[in-house]
Amino acid sequence: MSQYWTDLVHKLDPYIPGEQPQDQQYVKLNTNENPYPPSPKVTATIDNYNKDHLKLYPDPESTQLRQALAQRFGVQQDNVFVGNGSDEVLAHSFQAFFKQSKPLVFPDLSYSFYPVYCGLYEIESKTIPINEDFSININDFDIDNGGIIIPNPNAPTSMLMPLADIEQLCKNNSSVVIIDEAYIDFGGESAIPLTRKYDNLLVIQTFSKSRSLAGLRLGYAIGHKDLIEGLNRVKDSFNSYPIDSLAQTAAVSSIEDDSYFQQTCQKIVQTREQASEQLTRLGFKVLPSAANFIFACHESRSAQELYSELKKAGVLVRYFNKPRIDNYLRITIGTEQEMQKLIATLSKILQQN
Ligand SMILES: *Cc1c(COP(=O)(O)O)cnc(C)c1O
Repeated sequence: MSQYWTDLVHKLDPYIPGEQPQDQQYVKLNTNENPYPPSPKVTATIDNYNKDHLKLYPDPESTQLRQALAQRFGVQQDNVFVGNGSDEVLAHSFQAFFKQSKPLVFPDLSYSFYPVYCGLYEIESKTIPINEDFSININDFDIDNGGIIIPNPNAPTSMLMPLADIEQLCKNNSSVVIIDEAYIDFGGESAIPLTRKYDNLLVIQTFSKSRSLAGLRLGYAIGHKDLIEGLNRVKDSFNSYPIDSLAQTAAVSSIEDDSYFQQTCQKIVQTREQASEQLTRLGFKVLPSAANFIFACHESRSAQELYSELKKAGVLVRYFNKPRIDNYLRITIGTEQEMQKLIATLSKILQQN
C-alpha cells in the first residue's frame, strides 16, 4: 500500500502465476509447461543467431513470423497479430474490444487472468455458471453482451467444446467472440477456419505449451483484418517492439519443424491417456481432457492434503482454493518417467492414513 498509488492500482487484484521454485528440483507438473525441449531446429537457430543484430531494434511488425503463421493457417498476413506471450495478446484484445457499454461474459470457471484484465481496463463483466459436470452450455451465453471469451479446451477443467457451439456463438452475436486456444494442439479442433466466415471471431494461440517455448514469450491471434488492425492500434500505443529479434527467428524455426511438433504433442496425448487410467485406478475421478493437463479429484482424500503431501515428496501440482474446484488437482502431463514418479508417490501417500 502506498499513498502514491492511483485509485485503480489500489483496487487491482493481480494474477498469481504458478510457483517457479528455485530452492530444489521438483517434478514440475504445476504450470502446464511442455516437458520436452523445443525443436532441435529452434536450438540450432538460437546457437547460430548473429549477436550483432541485438544492437538493432527488431522488426516492429514481426513480418517473417507473421508470414510463417499465415502460411501455416491458410490466412493472409494481415489476419495475424503476434504478442509477447498470449497473455499480452489477450490484454490488448480486452482493451481493443471489450470495454463496451454492455458486460463481457465468460464462464465462471475459466482462465483466472480474465477478471484481472477486467480490473486493469475497468471492463464490466458477467460470469456464466458452467454445468455441474463442468461442461459448457452454449445457450447460457445467449444474453445481451459486450463480448464473449472462452478458453477451448477450458482451463482448468481441460474439457473441450465442440466447434459447432463456437460457430453458434459467432452467428448469434454482434460482439467480438474470442476463443483462447492455449491447449488446442493436444486433441482439439481449432476454430481458426471459422475466422474466414465470421468477422467477429478472434482465435488466440500460444507457443508456450505445445511448442515448448514458454520462456520465449510468444502468442498470436488470428482473425478478420479489421480486428487485427484494432490490436495493432493498441500495440503501437503501448510497445512497438514486443517481440525481440531472437524470439522472432526462433519462432519461425519452430513453425518450420512440424514433425517434431506433431511427435511431441502425440507423446503428451499418449502419456495423458495412460496417466488418466492409472489415476482412475487409484480412486480419482478424472475429467475427460483434451489438454496437456488433467483435472482430477479423489474419492476420499482432500485435494489440499494431496497437494501438500506431493510437494513434500518433491512433486509439484496445482491446487486452487476456490469454490467448486477446491477438491481438484490440476496435473500437467510430464514425461512418462515424471508421470510414473507422480503415480508412485501418490500410491504411497494414499496407503498412509
Ligand atoms: C497458459 C495460458 C495462456 C497464456 O499463455 P502465454 O502465451 O504463456 O502467455 C493463455 N490462456 C490460457 C487459457 C492459458 O492456459
